[in-house]
Amino acid sequence: MKPAGFLCKIDKLGRIVIPKPLRDKYNIQTDDALEMFTEPEGILLRKYGMSCIFCGGDDRITMFKGKPLCQGCLDKLQNL
Ligand SMILES: [Zn+2]
Repeated sequence: MKPAGFLCKIDKLGRIVIPKPLRDKYNIQTDDALEMFTEPEGILLRKYGMSCIFCGGDDRITMFKGKPLCQGCLDKLQNL
């Protein structure tokens, strides 16, 4: 995982605010569901149902020009 460059504080009910630039980057809108994953480094949040535009996989999805891309396809594209 790489740092997103934002810090947030948890309020007394355990809530956080996802900064607008991150919501925009990952196309997260009001009432969207987020899926939580536990990783050795911490908690990973991902928009629920997001999968790679090329293979449909869901391994380590990152956004490329507004589209979800899995790590495997990203690696292949970088080696073209
Ligand atoms: Zn893929």
